[in-house]
Amino acid sequence: MRVSQLLNPTLREVPAEAEVISHQLMVRAGLIRKSASGFYTYLPLGLRVLRKIEAIVREEMDAKGGQEVLMPIMQPAELWKESGRWEVYGDELFRLKDRHNREFCLGPTHEEIITDLVRNEVRSYKQLPLLLYQIQNKYRDERRPRFGLMRGREFVMKDLYSFDRDEAGLGESYKKMYDAYCRIFSRCGLAYRAVEADAGAIGGTGGTHEFMVLADSGENAVVYCPECNYAANVEKAECRPQVIEDVSPEGQHKLVSTPNVKTIEELSEFLVEPKTALVKSLLYQGDEKLFLVLLRGDRELNEIKLNNALGGFVSLQLASPEAVSTILGCAPGSVGPIEVPAGLLVIADEEVPLMKKAVCGANKADYHFVDTVPSRDFRIDKILDLRMMEPGEACLKCGVPLKEARGIEVGQVFKLGTKYSKALGATFLDLNGEEKFCVMGCYGVGVSRSIAATIEQNHDDNGIIWPMPIAPYQCIVVPVSTKDALVVETADKLYLELKRLGVEVVLDDRDERAGVKFKDADLVGYPIRVTIGSKTLANGQVELRERKTGETKLVLVEEVAGQVK
Ligand code: ATP
Ligand code: MG
Ligand code: MG
Ligand code: MG
Repeated sequence: MRVSQLLNPTLREVPAEAEVISHQLMVRAGLIRKSASGFYTYLPLGLRVLRKIEAIVREEMDAKGGQEVLMPIMQPAELWKESGRWEVYGDELFRLKDRHNREFCLGPTHEEIITDLVRNEVRSYKQLPLLLYQIQNKYRDERRPRFGLMRGREFVMKDLYSFDRDEAGLGESYKKMYDAYCRIFSRCGLAYRAVEADAGAIGGTGGTHEFMVLADSGENAVVYCPECNYAANVEKAECRPQVIEDVSPEGQHKLVSTPNVKTIEELSEFLVEPKTALVKSLLYQGDEKLFLVLLRGDRELNEIKLNNALGGFVSLQLASPEAVSTILGCAPGSVGPIEVPAGLLVIADEEVPLMKKAVCGANKADYHFVDTVPSRDFRIDKILDLRMMEPGEACLKCGVPLKEARGIEVGQVFKLGTKYSKALGATFLDLNGEEKFCVMGCYGVGVSRSIAATIEQNHDDNGIIWPMPIAPYQCIVVPVSTKDALVVETADKLYLELKRLGVEVVLDDRDERAGVKFKDADLVGYPIRVTIGSKTLANGQVELRERKTGETKLVLVEEVAGQVK
C-alpha cells in the first residue's frame, strides 16, 4: 500500500474528548473515527489490526475443536423471557420493536440464542461435547461509554459456548478455553494475567477467570501472590469461616419460625432502601443452607452479580426489587440454577446500617431475627464471611502478602453449569437413555478492546508501538527525499520486493518532509522503518530502525528483505 493512497488521516493535536492514551492515539494515528458516543468506524489501519486479532483468536478456537457459527445480532424477547434475563438485565440491554410490535434486543451476549439452537439440534450424548463460537458485534448500552474502543456500546467479541455431558466434561472444555486464551494473548504479544473473578450478569454457578492485560490505566485492580502466582480481581470475594451466635441479653433473638420470604414486598420490609442496597455476599453452610446476605450502601448497582467459584458460594449484587425477587424465585422466569434460599440472614454493614430487621433461616423451617442490631444482639464469630480481596492480605494458599496490579479485562471464561440449559430445556439422552441437561460454559474475548489494551500497554511519547503479530503493517519504507530519483526508485523497488516476499509493507511515497513522515511512522507504530536516504545509498545501504527500541542499523539494499521477515 502506498501511503499517498491510504486513508490514514493522522492528527498532531490530542482530540479533546479522548481521556486515555489508547483513545487519543487511535484517533491521532487515524485508526478510528467516532460516529456517536460508543460507536466507531474502523479506518483501514484500525481494521487491519482488528482482523489480525480475530485471525489469532479464530486459529486458537479452531485448534481446540471450536466450530464457527454466526448468530443473529437481533434476538427475540421471548428467549430472554425464557431465561429470565429480560427482566433482570437492566438498562444495558438495547431493546427494540419490529413493525408488528414484537419485542427484540440487540445481543449483548448470546447464551439464549445458542442454547435455543442446541436444544433443537442436539439429542444424544454422542453429539457432545460441542464447542460453538462466533466473532461478532455486541451491543451494550453502557452507562458511561468512554475510552474509545475500550468501552464501546458496539464492540467486537468472540464468544464461544461449550456444551458437555457432565461437570467433568465442562472442566475439560474450560481448561481448553483457558489454555487457548493464554495462547491468544501471548501470541498478540501482550503481558497479561489470568485472575479469579466474580461472575457478573451472565451468572452461573461454576468458576470464572478474567484475563487482564496489565497496564497502570486499567479499570480493574487485581491482587496477586508473588510467591505462588495466585491472582484474583479485588472484586472477588474470599471466604473466612465464622459462626453466628445470638448473644442478646435474654436470648430473645433465638430463632423464631416464620414463613419464608417470598416476595419483594416481604423482603423490602427488612431493607430500608432495597434499591441501593449492595448485597455483598450470600452463602450457605453445609446441609443447613444458612444463607447470609451482607448489605452495604456504598455503591449504586445496576446488575446482578453471581458467583460461587468457591464451591457452593453465591455472592450477589442487587440493583432493583425485580432483581431481588428474581433471586428469591418469585419473578416470572427466575434465574436458573440459583437455589432459592430457604431462609435469609440479612445483616447490615456496620458503616451503613440499612437494616430495620435481620432475618435468619435454615433449610427446613424458616427463622427470623427481629429488630436486631448486629454485634449488639448477636455475635458473629464464625460465619462464612465473603470479603473482597485486598492487597497486603495474606494469600490463602501460601500466606505471603498479596500485591496489587492494574489490568484491563480483555477476556473472561465462565462455567455456567445448567443455568441456561435448565431455563430453556436443552437436554440430551445419556448412555442409559436418561434425559440430562447440557452442562455449559461461555468464553468471551473482547477483540476490539484488545486493540485499545495493546496500546495502553505499548506506547511512548511518539505514538503506538505495535507488537509485530498484530501490527497493521510490519514495515514502512520511507524515502527521505522525493527529489532524488535514485532514492525514489530504490524505495519503490524495495517496496515491491518486500511485498513479493510476503512482507506486509507500506511505502510512504508522499511529497512530505522527512520529519513529517518519521513522525507519522512513529505515531502509527509500524514495528520496522526502512529509511532510504541519498547519503547511505551511495554505499548501497539503507537504514533499518526498530520502533520499539529505536535501534538503527545500516544494511545493504539486497539484505533488507531477509532482515525484515
Ligand atoms: P466490563 O467488566 O469491562 O464491563 P464485562 O465483564 O461486562 O466487561 P463480559 O460480559 O465478560 O464483559 O464480555 C467479554 C469481554 O468483552 C470482556 O472481557 C471485554 O473484553 C469485552 N467487553 C465487554 N464490554 C465491552 C465494551 N463495552 N466495549 C468493549 N469491549 C467490551
Ligand atoms: Mg460490563
Ligand atoms: Mg467485567
Ligand atoms: Mg467479564
